[in-house]
Amino acid sequence: MREADRDGDPLGIDPEAMRAYGYRTVDMLVQRLCDESIPPLRRASPREMRDRLSGPAPAAGQEFEAILERLDRDVLPFMSRGDHPGFLAFIPFCGTWPGALGDFIASACNIYAGSWMESAGPTQLELEVLGWFKRWIGFPDGAGGVLVGGGSAANLTALACARETLGGDMSAELVGYVSDQAHSSLARAARVLGFHPEQLRVLPTDAQFRLDPRTLAAAMDADLRAGRRPLFVSASAGTTNTGAIDPLAALSELCHERGVWLHVDAAYGGFAVLTERGRDLLRGIDAADSVTLDPHKWLYQPYECGALLVRDDDVLRRAFQMTPDYLQDSFVGEEVNLSDRGVQLTRSSRALKVWVSLQYFGVDAFAKAIDRSLDLAERVRKRVQASVELELMAPPSLGVVCFRRRFPGSADEEEVDGHNAGLVVALEQSGLGLVSSTMLSGRYTLRVCVLNHTTGADNIESLMDFFESAQPTTWGTPAADPVTVAAGYQRDRLIRASPLRRRSGGGGRRGVAVEALTGLGLFEQLAEPDLERIAALAAIDLRAAGEPVVEQWEASIDFYVIVEGRVEVLVDDERVAELCSGEFFGELAAMDWGGGYGYPRIASVRTLQATTLLTFAGGSMNEIVRDHPSIARQIRRVGLQRLTRSRR
Ligand SMILES: *Cc1c(COP(=O)(O)O)cnc(C)c1O
Repeated sequence: MREADRDGDPLGIDPEAMRAYGYRTVDMLVQRLCDESIPPLRRASPREMRDRLSGPAPAAGQEFEAILERLDRDVLPFMSRGDHPGFLAFIPFCGTWPGALGDFIASACNIYAGSWMESAGPTQLELEVLGWFKRWIGFPDGAGGVLVGGGSAANLTALACARETLGGDMSAELVGYVSDQAHSSLARAARVLGFHPEQLRVLPTDAQFRLDPRTLAAAMDADLRAGRRPLFVSASAGTTNTGAIDPLAALSELCHERGVWLHVDAAYGGFAVLTERGRDLLRGIDAADSVTLDPHKWLYQPYECGALLVRDDDVLRRAFQMTPDYLQDSFVGEEVNLSDRGVQLTRSSRALKVWVSLQYFGVDAFAKAIDRSLDLAERVRKRVQASVELELMAPPSLGVVCFRRRFPGSADEEEVDGHNAGLVVALEQSGLGLVSSTMLSGRYTLRVCVLNHTTGADNIESLMDFFESAQPTTWGTPAADPVTVAAGYQRDRLIRASPLRRRSGGGGRRGVAVEALTGLGLFEQLAEPDLERIAALAAIDLRAAGEPVVEQWEASIDFYVIVEGRVEVLVDDERVAELCSGEFFGELAAMDWGGGYGYPRIASVRTLQATTLLTFAGGSMNEIVRDHPSIARQIRRVGLQRLTRSRR
């Protein structure tokens, strides 16, 4: 039991006890952090965790030692270990001890870094840290920024600045643009800020998964013609999938010409500017209006630490400043109140850990750590290219290498996918390391992301040996879709109609007779009740010869199946295909990319003769896809082929 209340304070603690608990905590942490036998990931079921941890809050206190033991036994073992040298999954996260101590200091001193009045020291520290970041990416002196919880918060803050600065009130004409490789947090940010589904365009990328400025220009031109107002573009400098870097200089030129805000999401990749190679790759980042950086990724800070930098310091204040009466004491002259630069009033000092770790190691050490990661990723690439067993799936970039094993004896693509998914599982089970997977142009790919300062050449060599020769974990039952089963995840099932409700281009009465669906390949495998449900969503649309059905770049989202007749597909006025009875089009724009947003039309479609169409309005295709995996597969396969064909 705890000793009696100290001076009547029920929550007070004696200085000797404070020291003892602190030392004991540090002992436990050092033991844990230096224990090489702890694997990169230990999972547990919700049931197991409930059994270990569920219970009411204790009415009376207990010994500190017992609490630490409980944490060490029931909580801390069940998590990923981002600092493991074999942790190459997702975006790895590997802190430093001085950084962790910085967080401890910020927490123990309970710093309120919201106003200058209450935290002149920590505020100046944050301005210093932001100043370093500014200079590293080449922003001018007048630039500013704020530290936030992470990249998602920074992206949201950036879009809010763009709208306040250029858009003013939220209006229906404003449009934003991202590529289909953009991070999902941008869709979430757009949704939080009230952008309707037709106000964010997801644009197809080129063969290197980059946003082509010509694609962007064409999409913007079409929106201008339709009376809309391009507001912002979010480019990626290090996509999460492949590490791809959009052509920043060309995109900024295009945006500046047109008075459009250019945000660069460099959440994980941005700190590569500390290296010579990285500076080359990220050339042009300094021309952005705002940049997201995540110090808790490639600057080795403990969670949480994100940063938003803006070219003009004043835009943050304009977007976020509030002056309530109860804070009147904290507004004095030139003093900076960081709570006026984002959504948080009460905020801790995230700068402290950054400052402590950079003071301790020096910038050069961080640059070396990043350089070492880049070397190791290069080593992965070489191993893949030298191996007959393995193949690259995308150009490696900024520490990310996407590849897979060929499994030449396999019956089909899906079996290859399944075996590769089995390798991910087998690696996790081996305790040697952890990688994750993703989908590139509809193909399953292993994805290695080398960011940790703890990872060395030996780790990479043994991991690559593993991928070349290990036996994949196999699944008990041959599943319809081994990839999604392996991942325990069905993307289509997670799609929900956006609460913002997509506007339908079609309209009119819906519901047709089931007979209208017979003979159409897409619905071939369905039973009567399913057919009835789908028929209820459809409408019949009769078109004369030579009629346009959809126009390239428009934001309509209806999905069409040709019942009878013939249409031509045009990209940039050039005919790329003809489609006839049983074939479908419009699937890409109808498909939910995230948050209810999706592609604009990437091609025009025109009838070549009198044509009968079955139309599914208002994104109702997503309902069909969600409920029928066989239809989902057909639609996705065709959609991805068309996306690939559209690549410049
Ligand atoms: C990680 C990441 C984000 C999201 O950042 P969080 O810190 O996880 O919120 C956004 N964009 C990119 C490119 C990222 O890598």
